[in-house]
Amino acid sequence: MLDVAIIGGGPAGLAAGLYAVRGGGNVCLYEEMFAGGQIVKTHRIDNYPGISDGPDGYALAARFEEHAAAFGLKIEYGAVSELVLTGDPKRFTFNGETVEAKTVILATGASPKTLGIPGEKELTGHGVSYCATCDGAFYKNRTATVIGGGDTAISDALYLAKLCKQVYVVHRRDELRASAILADAAKQTENITFVWNSVPEAFLGEKKLSGIRIRNRVTGELCDLPTDGAFVAVGVVPRTELFSGQVALAENGSVPTDEHMQTNVPGVFAAGDVRNTPLRQVVTACADGAIAATYALEAARVK
Ligand code: NAP
Repeated sequence: MLDVAIIGGGPAGLAAGLYAVRGGGNVCLYEEMFAGGQIVKTHRIDNYPGISDGPDGYALAARFEEHAAAFGLKIEYGAVSELVLTGDPKRFTFNGETVEAKTVILATGASPKTLGIPGEKELTGHGVSYCATCDGAFYKNRTATVIGGGDTAISDALYLAKLCKQVYVVHRRDELRASAILADAAKQTENITFVWNSVPEAFLGEKKLSGIRIRNRVTGELCDLPTDGAFVAVGVVPRTELFSGQVALAENGSVPTDEHMQTNVPGVFAAGDVRNTPLRQVVTACADGAIAATYALEAARVK
């Protein structure tokens, strides 16, 4: 039986894995697709201490994975299902086999929030995207529009500005939420134009995106902004579907924990973006993972 099963291989899960194997535990990390989580979609990481060469998220994730693997972390790729967190041991199915663990760390991260407006579903993959790093190259020398005013939106806009002829940023207020360093850089970038106090009402186009219908929240005015690509960056939704109903969730859908990262279920911990946390950064996800692993191992040892 495992001491610690980690579900999710983003920065939180990989940091938890590193700490748990270095702590001497029998540990396995289960990842659905590929290690790295949301950072693989980030074109430059500037704020992870000690790494000032601004690697892309994919490269940083690979370094995290190699580091944990070098200390003996076992990583299995595939889908976890039928997770039962109540009682002891914790159990789930992985690739048709039952896995038992004394403790579980939930590090399932978060996925991009959708707008829920007409045309969004139909045009996703046909001009509407949630990942500038993945899809930006399709809009080389063309026009792209980013929706949102947070760190993701503004770093996406800066990335796209290097590729595209023109980038619009449509934001629902007249002040950005993004950190000052990103906001200032975007405001100083010639081919980035801000469309303030505005929200998208519909994505336009038949088989591919041709524009976005935008409503000005101050004047109520509607206008159609022609654009080749739209990048939605309006925040994230914690990924809790695997264990919904088994651990308490906060109103915003994230998992509350105590200072040891333990959820309301003994032996079940949460770390990173899935957790109810005021700051979602690589460094905070790693810190969560380290704390969760330390206390998960401690809990496993007394079982
Ligand atoms: P976020 O910080 O929650 O920002 C979401 C943005 O979208 C806000 O500007 C918000 O407007 C807007 N928004 C939300 N719902 C909307 C809607 N229905 N219609 C229109 N606009 C809407 O999300 P994020 O930028 O994805 O960042 C998530 C976390 O990751 C944050 O903690 C962030 O700091 C972190 N992150 C960090 C970096 C970095 O450090 N380089 C990069 C990416 C992400 P309001 O401002 O009016 O609320």
